[in-house]
Amino acid sequence: MPADYHTHTPLCMHAEGEPEQYIDAAIAAGVTEYGISDHAPVGEEFFDDWRMLESQLPEYFSWVERAKAHAGDKLPVRVGMECDWLPGCESWIQDLRSRYDWDYLIGSVHYINDQWDFDNPKWVGSKWAEADIDQVWETYWSTYIDMIDSGLFDIFGHPDLIKKFGHKPAGDLSRFYEPAIDALATSGAIIELNTAGWHKPCAEQYPHSEFLELARDGGIGLVISSDAHHPAEVARDFEKAKAVAKAAGYMETVLIDKGQRSYENL
Ligand code: ZN
Ligand code: FE
Ligand code: FE
Repeated sequence: MPADYHTHTPLCMHAEGEPEQYIDAAIAAGVTEYGISDHAPVGEEFFDDWRMLESQLPEYFSWVERAKAHAGDKLPVRVGMECDWLPGCESWIQDLRSRYDWDYLIGSVHYINDQWDFDNPKWVGSKWAEADIDQVWETYWSTYIDMIDSGLFDIFGHPDLIKKFGHKPAGDLSRFYEPAIDALATSGAIIELNTAGWHKPCAEQYPHSEFLELARDGGIGLVISSDAHHPAEVARDFEKAKAVAKAAGYMETVLIDKGQRSYENL
């Protein structure tokens, strides 16, 4: 089974489970590698209530050490973080990069337009109900492309998260996908096929198969991720994800060890 590099810990305040439980689940699922990538702190102070604080980074590293100790030589454990792309965050991301010998950093867009956390379900009946969907999609994708162009990340998370609650503009969506694919191809970074979308209102993996096909044609590397926030979610739907990736033309997924890539056949 492909590596699962996008998983969380209770330090983000909306995940549960012990490191040993996540590792046991990963071994049971037969993944080749397990990666921990909790929501990174944003700056040195409190910013929203679904991430660790900067002062908790040592706790994160101990959590990682417990996972590694439990995995022993049964399963390679990789270490990263899921970082938020926010205006002016570049120096902070570089600072975070220097705090640990990371295997990878995942870049994600969870905020657009002056820090609107658009993927929070609390906005479905309010901000989302009033939103101009075309406009929101345009803003999301231009923000996503800025993140890619920053060159600060190794993996790009849930590329079309903006569809989470099922809001999609009319017509062919490749007009949104193509500029992002071009930016990815230029940067040489890789994307994830994130299976969590199957369990959200959109009921689709992130990204859509059309995006995956364009990415594959653009030579963009792929990982498959569960985005687990509970041990039972590790490698969830990976068989289905493998089939979707293959249908889009992918023959392999990427393995990352301290930024160094190798490939594994699907
Ligand atoms: Zn989360
Ligand atoms: Fe995320
Ligand atoms: Fe995540």
